Amino acid sequence: MLNIVLFGPPGAGKGTQANFLKSTFNLVHISTGDVFRKNIKNQTPLGILAQSYIDRGALVPDQVTIDMLSDEVSKNTTGKGFIFDGFPRNIVQADALDFVLSKHSAQVDAMIALEVEDEILVKRLLKRGETSGRSDDSSEEIVRNRIKIYYSETAILKSYYEAKGRYHGVDGVGEIEAITERLNAVVNTL
Ligand code: AMP
Repeated sequence: MLNIVLFGPPGAGKGTQANFLKSTFNLVHISTGDVFRKNIKNQTPLGILAQSYIDRGALVPDQVTIDMLSDEVSKNTTGKGFIFDGFPRNIVQADALDFVLSKHSAQVDAMIALEVEDEILVKRLLKRGETSGRSDDSSEEIVRNRIKIYYSETAILKSYYEAKGRYHGVDGVGEIEAITERLNAVVNTL
């Protein structure tokens, strides 16, 4: 199995690039944000719980998120591996991911981070908000809160994976195709 965590702040382009990577390398894409949004749309108990956090740009509680992620992995263990997009977002989740994968005799092989500066992120997210219909893209205050939470809770994962020798940073600014090529080049070294 080849398991990749596609990492970066909100608006870095993880979703867009994960879609290319999944077809090029035949991987299953798990976006925790997408799974939450599907549950919100269908007004499931999980969606109703998650919505209050997502609407204000906060993180959904770990246990709920970890249980959901674990279910998604279990549904797809026959494939060649996963691209995790939006998970893990803190150390508790990173440890949980190691545990979930170890049950399938697998591990996180690489964290690949899309590096983009903050003001570009804010612009991208507000632009996306004009068409995405996402509540959390709809105001500058919420967008900035998401970026703030990324730095206070999530960014530390860079050192977590660096310590394991599995961190790869990629410039996430430029043409979409050029960024895809940078990512493909990293995956081809794994
Ligand atoms: P995303 O689509 O990755 O930007 O996620 C949208 C929102 O879903 C986030 O702002 C969080 O509220 C929630 N979310 C997604 N993934 C996670 C996670 N791993 N842990 C906690 N909350 C998450």
